[in-house]
Amino acid sequence: MAKIIHYRSKCIGCNICFEMQPEYWRLSKKDGKATLVNSHLKKDTHILVIPDDSIVLSKKTAEHCPVKVIKVF
Ligand code: SF4
Repeated sequence: MAKIIHYRSKCIGCNICFEMQPEYWRLSKKDGKATLVNSHLKKDTHILVIPDDSIVLSKKTAEHCPVKVIKVF
């Protein structure tokens, strides 16, 4: 089982993650940062379990994040 990890505090709100995977990402109207939909918060990170068929695209999304605050494990 894979996970997306989002280090949200350093997100710059560029919106690339939403453009690549709108099923997982939204831009918050409150603070302009990306929100990982349905994730849970553990310490400072937001975590979402994803199905195996989302891993490849999720890794691409992580690569495109300009500040590298998305990780896929
Ligand atoms: S791609 Fe990275 S910096 Fe841009 S909104 Fe998404 S998480 Fe934030």
